[in-house]
Parts: sequence; C-alpha cells; structure tokens
Amino acid sequence: MYDAIIVGARCAGSPTAMLLARNGYRVLLLDKATFPSDTISTHIIWPHGAEIMDRWGLLDRLAATGCPPVALNLIFDVGPFALHGAVTETNETNNCRASATAVQITRPDLAVTALGIPTAPVAPGGTFKVTDTVKNQGTVAAGAFTTRYYLSLNSTKDIVVGSRSVSSLSAGQTSNGNLNVTVPSGTSPGAYYVVSCADDSNTVVETDEANNCRVSASTIQVALPDLVITAVGNPPASAAKGAKFRITDTTKNQGTVTATASATRYYLSTDQQKGGGDVLLSGTRSVSSLNAGQSASGNVNVTIPATTPAGTYYVVACADDAGAVTEGDETNNCKGSAGTVVVP
Ligand SMILES: Cc1cc2nc3c(=O)[nH]c(=O)nc-3n(C[C@H](O)[C@H](O)[C@H](O)COP(=O)(O)OP(=O)(O)OC[C@H]3O[C@@H](n4cnc5c(N)ncnc54)[C@H](O)[C@@H]3O)c2cc1C
Repeated sequence: MYDAIIVGARCAGSPTAMLLARNGYRVLLLDKATFPSDTISTHIIWPHGAEIMDRWGLLDRLAATGCPPVALNLIFDVGPFALHGAVTETNETNNCRASATAVQITRPDLAVTALGIPTAPVAPGGTFKVTDTVKNQGTVAAGAFTTRYYLSLNSTKDIVVGSRSVSSLSAGQTSNGNLNVTVPSGTSPGAYYVVSCADDSNTVVETDEANNCRVSASTIQVALPDLVITAVGNPPASAAKGAKFRITDTTKNQGTVTATASATRYYLSTDQQKGGGDVLLSGTRSVSSLNAGQSASGNVNVTIPATTPAGTYYVVACADDAGAVTEGDETNNCKGSAGTVVVP
C-alpha cells in the first residue's frame, strides 16, 4: 500500500517522490518511458536549480557525472540559430531568500489515553465490555486505523480479544470506544491485564510509533465455575435390589462465573467417597445453568441395579458427573450421605 502514486518521473515527479519518501511516506513513482528518455531539453540547470540540488544533497553527485559547469555566458544553439546571453550580476551572494516562517513537516501521533475494564470475573468463551479513548495528539490528521485489544498476564500484547475501526482523526481529535470483547474458550484461568493498541496494524505513519498502547490499571480475572454437592439426603434404611427410592441433594456453583447446565448422578458406596466398585444408580437429576454462588436443590427417583452385591451402602451424589462443565476444581464434585441403606 502506498501513501502516494506519482505519474511522471522527470523534473517534477522525481523530486516530489524523493521528498515524500524522505519524510517517511511510501511512494510509487511511475513513468511510461524508460530512462534516459528522449524528452527534448537543452539540459541546463539554472542557478536556482543548482542551489536546490545542493540543498537536497544531490549537487556533488550531479557534478560527479561529468556535466560541465556553465560559465557566465550562455549560448543556446538550437541548430539553425543560436541565442547568446549572459547572467552577469553585480552581487552573486544575494540571490536567495528564506521564508520568514518555517513550514512544519510532521505526522499524526495516535495514543490510547483512557482504558476501562470491568471488575467482574469472566469465563473462557465469555465476553466483557471495554471502554477506551484514542487520541490523535499530533498536529496533522490521521487516516483510518484499527484499535486492537489483548489480554496479557504481564502487560505485553498476548491474547487478541477484539478490535474496532476508527475512520480518521483530525489533529487533537479523540475517538471513544465501547465494545464487548470475547475471551477465547481455551484461555487459562488467571488475572489478565487488558492492553489496547491504537493503529495496531501500523497503517498510519506517526511521529512516535512507540506510544500507541495502554495497559489497564487493574486486571480482569478469567475464571472457571466450580460445582459441588452441599447436601445429600439419606436413603431408606433398607431397599431390595431393583427397588426405587427418592434421593434429594443440593448442587452449588461455588465458583465466581456461571456454570452451564449439568447432571448430578448417584452411587451406592461403602465409604461416602466415589471410587472403584461403587454402584451407579439409574436416575439422573438435571441441573440448569447456575450463576456464581447459586444453588439448586431437587430430588429424583433412583433404582438399585439387580446385580448389586448385598451390603450396607452410603449414597454418594456427584455434581456434573459426566464432566459437561469445565471447572476450576474437578475433584470436589461428590458428597456422601450421612445415613446408609442395607441391600439384602
Ligand atoms: C526544447 C526544450 C528545451 C528545454 N531546455 C531546458 C533547460 O535547458 N533547462 C530547464 O530547466 N528546462 C528546460 N526545458 C523545460 C523542461 O524540459 C521542462 O520544464 C521540464 O521537463 C518539465 O518537467 P516535468 O517533470 O513537469 O515534465 P516532463 O519532463 O515532460 O516529464 C513528464 C514525464 O511524465 C511521463 N508521462 C507522461 N504521461 C504519462 C503517463 N500517462 N503514464 C506514465 N508516464 C507518463 C513522461 O514519459 C515524462 O517522463 C526545456 C524544454 C524544451 C521543450
């Protein structure tokens, strides 16, 4: 991509391209001719032209090509006739004048001057709102650019969570952003800074390319839910193989972010813990989505399998027993009943 495309690469075009390029613009200079081209010229560079070539640092290179310096007398010999003239001055040292004021050649300068993030934790795959202000603190306009947002554990750009487009900003103008960004589903739990970077793709050439990003003052917690059983009812004192009984429990999300729907299952166990040899009871309780800290109590009929060995068992209730919800702690999902059931 170019800032300027110049058609015609001779006296007017090539210096224009050179000066733009020297000021950091990306320039494409085109000409339909190949060089040296056959444009008619007497090939005299006039004193003012020589002075400009000197100012641009090109006069020595021009002289090195072997072109002869012109003496005070000039002769234009165009074949059938010749023109004779002279540029003789009384004072050869007063030919130039500098402007009273300087022309400032400068660029825009984009910076994020404010950045706000929420305090509430967010789950991987969830969204949160970011507000920010981008300012062109330069003295000339900036063209269109993109502001990009990152999560970062150490305040450098790390995980992209969103972006917004800014059409253009005149000198001193600001643009306020207010958008939802999305935490990628695979993001590890932790405390993340948000980094907002104006013109993150470097489409605008700026006076300072090192001041485009701002790091949030606080961090946002990326967290997982944590499902536990906080209460489980007692089974009947005895029940035959193949018999049904009703069991109650309370499933709680003790995490700081919402847990999606899950299913609580129940086991007969000799030791109040879920483990090898425990008997899975048929009958599952569906638990809908639970907000941070929310509990859901309920009951369900369960059936003792006909193959259950005779014995005395606790009932162990296990939240999200099929592992549908990714949790901060996957080892605390079960709780055993206080009472036991005798299966004869
Ligand atoms: C006989 C004669 C003698 C002269 N002698 C002198 C002299 O001694 N000293 C002096 O200072 N001035 C002299 N001049 C004047 C000088 O040549 C011009 O002022 C100067 O060339 C103008 O420069 P320019 O870049 O504007 O145009 P040009 O020099 O005409 O350059 C235009 C360029 O654009 C290219 N171009 C045009 N259209 C297209 C297109 N569609 N796509 C791609 N490329 C394109 C052309 O190929 C060309 O290279 C003389 C002029 C003439 C006619």
